[in-house]
Amino acid sequence: MIAVLKPSVPLRDKAQLVALLEARGYRVHLDRTDGREWVGVLGDDVRGLEAELAAHPAVDSVRRLETPYALASRAFRPEASVVRVGTVELGGPEVVVMAGPCAVESEEQVFATARAVAAAGARILRGGAFKPRTSPYSFQGLGPDGLALLAAAGREANLAVVTEVVAPEDVALVAEHADLLQVGARNMQNFRLLEAVGAAHKPVLLKRGLVATLEELLLAAEYVLAAGNPDVILCERGIRTFGRETRNTLDLAAVPLLKQKSHLPVIADPSHGTGVRALVPALSKAALAAGADGLIIEVHPDPATALSDGPQSLTFAGFAALMDELRPLASALGRQLTPPTGSRA
Ligand code: PEP
Ligand code: MN
Repeated sequence: MIAVLKPSVPLRDKAQLVALLEARGYRVHLDRTDGREWVGVLGDDVRGLEAELAAHPAVDSVRRLETPYALASRAFRPEASVVRVGTVELGGPEVVVMAGPCAVESEEQVFATARAVAAAGARILRGGAFKPRTSPYSFQGLGPDGLALLAAAGREANLAVVTEVVAPEDVALVAEHADLLQVGARNMQNFRLLEAVGAAHKPVLLKRGLVATLEELLLAAEYVLAAGNPDVILCERGIRTFGRETRNTLDLAAVPLLKQKSHLPVIADPSHGTGVRALVPALSKAALAAGADGLIIEVHPDPATALSDGPQSLTFAGFAALMDELRPLASALGRQLTPPTGSRA
């Protein structure tokens, strides 16, 4: 519920309103849009409050939210949010490409990939150190050593870094090395993890669960926002359907839908969304055309020997060629994509 305050309402009336709501167990969010102050009332059942709020001397008008999430909704914050990751801004005019291996495998692999993707115009280096693998016998990642390698490779190539955190107790360690904390599809509803990244001082990349509705994704984002972290980026990474030709079904309608429902930046993951290298370029373009604020793409020096997700990983040359195809598309859409290093001023 949103209560828009009367213009120049006395501080005393405002404080009394907030105290009254908090005493009833509601959480209160004070904000201002177009010069008008408003109070967001957060709680499980706010409907009973409507008449009382409308009659309060500080309140001008009351608006009910149509959604079970509030902080993540457009109704709460009509303007698009811009989330900063290091020096990179997501949700603004730039289309931001994050690229790198599925998993950090070795110093040589991650440094070579960082240089190649930076040269092609990526802004953020991805690479898993803690890998949530379907089988317990699959490569689980290099753990803390992988984090250190990723961070060092990012520093050398002048890229921010994103990596997945799979457990609440690892958040502090991962946040020491990463500029952006990834919550993976399998953990989208790990509520203790969402609260832990919500308490961290780093932005969060929240991937849609394999069978999650958009409402569930936005409620997962709400956990992070309600825990005090305003910097959430949503990621459509494909959902489980009956098709067998692709690993997942990249739900591109989710991109404009999420942007209608929420002010948060939205990116797409055509690598996990298809599982098929040859489909990544077409789906990358489609995602930009659908309004994505960025892409996250898997790239490996030698996909045939990758320890995870080789079949969907692009080669360095394939990634550079894709970036060259995306650039005129981004311009046609009124957005920018970083040029390759060779042509930078
Ligand atoms: C990944 O980014 O490598 C990953 C495991 O992604 P998801 O959680 O979307 O499967
Ligand atoms: Mn992967």
